[in-house]
Amino acid sequence: MDFGLTDEQELILESVREFASRYYTEEKIAEMYAAGRTPDDVLQAYLETGLGFMGLPEEYGGVPCDNVTLGLIVEEIAHSTGSTTPFLNYTLSMRDMFEFGSEDQIKLAFDEYNKTGQPMFSLAFSEPAAGSDNSAMTCVTKKQADGTYILNGQKTWVTMGEVFPYALVIAKDEDPARENRNMTMWLVPKELKGVSTAPLHKIGQQIMPFCEMYFDDVVLTEDMRVGEQGQGFMNLMKNFELERCFICAQDLGLAQAAMDDAAAYVSERITFGKPISNYQLIQEKLTDMETVLQNARNMLYKTLWKIDNGQSVRIDSALLKRYCGQKLNWVASEAVQIFGGLGFTTETRVGRLWLDTRGNDIAGGTSEIMVYIAGRQLAKKYARQ
Ligand SMILES: Cc1cc2nc3c(=O)[nH]c(=O)nc-3n(C[C@H](O)[C@H](O)[C@H](O)COP(=O)(O)OP(=O)(O)OC[C@H]3O[C@@H](n4cnc5c(N)ncnc54)[C@H](O)[C@@H]3O)c2cc1C
Repeated sequence: MDFGLTDEQELILESVREFASRYYTEEKIAEMYAAGRTPDDVLQAYLETGLGFMGLPEEYGGVPCDNVTLGLIVEEIAHSTGSTTPFLNYTLSMRDMFEFGSEDQIKLAFDEYNKTGQPMFSLAFSEPAAGSDNSAMTCVTKKQADGTYILNGQKTWVTMGEVFPYALVIAKDEDPARENRNMTMWLVPKELKGVSTAPLHKIGQQIMPFCEMYFDDVVLTEDMRVGEQGQGFMNLMKNFELERCFICAQDLGLAQAAMDDAAAYVSERITFGKPISNYQLIQEKLTDMETVLQNARNMLYKTLWKIDNGQSVRIDSALLKRYCGQKLNWVASEAVQIFGGLGFTTETRVGRLWLDTRGNDIAGGTSEIMVYIAGRQLAKKYARQ
């Protein structure tokens, strides 16, 4: 068992910290959140450092790396910027495209990524009546006599849906009924007739706005299909466990940033003639916050290590997502509490960290759904033979 980092990992993390200190001052972060976008020069710089190519296939100019290293990068970006950034989402979107897209689709997406640092598509999966309960999805395509498909339905909470020119849409084949599990992924150009969007206003993570998306008799052609017919849901699910780990890595970095600020402040803030670090109630907060951070980190990297070593993480990834979703937001909330009134202002960043971590208890599967996944597996695992 080795908890140390390699020299290479140390160097990569050093370059993450350099990148963060250069582009992510508090003033710049406030501007980015207000504008709901990451400036082009920051996206470009992320590519130029090489970080944007980590975890992508070598044949396309990527730098393959294990998932533990990728997790370290995601955590450190969130930690050293103290903010949500889009880079994780972009890497994951590109990985989906490399795995399931046709050569033409990959080329289209990668050329754009190379040029702008952004994938050209958002992921449109959730629907107003089908978030956790994805069988209730009613977005549907129907094949026409001329070989085209007609897409109808609505998606929601589509991150960057208004910004990117394409959406990767999951729709049922032919029949919107709950029993129909055949779903296909489509790379839908937003400029097609019948596609429209409406904004939704986030309370946190505003750097990546989301939106509603409507499809009204949209004509799709066969070349817009991504992956095999009927396999869209299964394909997407294949990577969900890993994606959950990376959401947790981001969440962990944010909560660590909140801890850094709060744990430093306790020595500075004087009440009743003493720094608040003297009070046991405050010491208890720091102790419990640090325990959560260490637990989350141990669970995260053990789960990623298991994935790297070809082991099943069905239970581990659900336990991790539930633990991080709930507890890391609690860490950020305690950080707000330690700052008192100041914590409830925009003079400190802990309020932003609290709101940003809150969203991660919902995105990528809620903590209640993680019980649904892990609970049944645990009952099976521990059943007497
Ligand atoms: C920041 C953010 C980004 C997102 N980005 C995207 C995106 O890019 N693309 C996309 O398609 N979607 C996206 N989503 C949507 C996200 O995947 C869904 O919000 C999530 O899966 C939950 O679905 P829901 O909102 O419909 O909640 P519901 O499924 O309606 O759940 C409501 C509540 O009931 C609980 N619940 C539901 N079923 C059960 C059950 N069986 N047992 C116990 N409790 C249950 C839930 O845990 C929750 O507390 C994003 C969401 C967030 C917050």
